[in-house]
Order: sequence, then C-alpha cells, then structure tokens
Amino acid sequence: MTIFSKIAAGEIPSYCCASSEEFYAFLDINPMAKGHTLVIPRREVDYIFDLTDEEIARMHVFAAHVARAIKKVIPCVKVGEAVLGLEVPHAHIHLIPMQSERDMLFSNPKLSLPAEEMQSIADAIRKEFGE
Ligand code: 5GP
Repeated sequence: MTIFSKIAAGEIPSYCCASSEEFYAFLDINPMAKGHTLVIPRREVDYIFDLTDEEIARMHVFAAHVARAIKKVIPCVKVGEAVLGLEVPHAHIHLIPMQSERDMLFSNPKLSLPAEEMQSIADAIRKEFGE
C-alpha cells in the first residue's frame, strides 16, 4: 500500500479537501503556496498516464472542481496544475494557487504552516467543494 493509499483510507492523517468514491484531495504537507493540494485516485497506480483514458478524464473533472473550490478560498490569479510523481509512486495532480509563474517552481523553498492554519484552509476548501 502506498503512503497516499494509507492517507486516502484514513490510516495516516491528512488535511482532507475533497473526497469521492474514486478520488481523494488533501493538502500537500510541504506546500509551495497556501492551498497547495494533491488529487489522487484511490486506485493504486504509480504513473498517471497508466490510468485508463476514462479515469484520467474523471480525475481531471474532479481536480477542476477542487481547483474551483481552492480559487474561492485562496486569493490567487489562477490555480496551476502540475504532475511530477518523482517522489511518491502513486499518481497525483498538484493544484497550486499562483500569484505568478514563479509559484510553480518546484525548486522553491516550501512553506511550513501551523496545523491550525492547514486545518482551516482544508475545511474552507471542503466547504466550497460542497461536502
Ligand atoms: P512528487 O511525487 O509529485 O514529486 O511529490 C510528492 C508530493 O507529495 C510533494 O510535494 C510532497 O510534499 C508531498 N507529500 C509527500 N509525502 C506526503 C505525506 O505524507 N502527506 C502529504 N500531505 N503530502 C506528502
């Protein structure tokens, strides 16, 4: 079981932003910006492009709904989307609120936010998502 599967199953705690039968969204523990969220399929697949075409489509629709919720909560120009997957072998989409192009540089220093702030950001996103 990957660490992200354990997170989606609730075996490892996370700041949940949105959830469905098929997908799960939670705050990145080392955010590049406030509201940096990861979207994963519950099905364990390492490389995102090994998902079926239908799964990729549904995952992006789910991610779009999460991104709209993030945009309502975190003041930003746009929510950027990125896929790397070099660290955790479980497919995931990064959703990152952007003020400028620089906010998408993964070499940037990461933020360390207090647990209460992470919780309140996740709660607000979940509320906007409609859970
Ligand atoms: P990637 O695999 O796309 O290169 O990066 C994995 C991302 O997952 C990183 O941004 C990292 O901060 C995040 N991450 C790794 N382990 C955990 C974890 O246990 N919990 C959470 N919330 N995020 C994690």
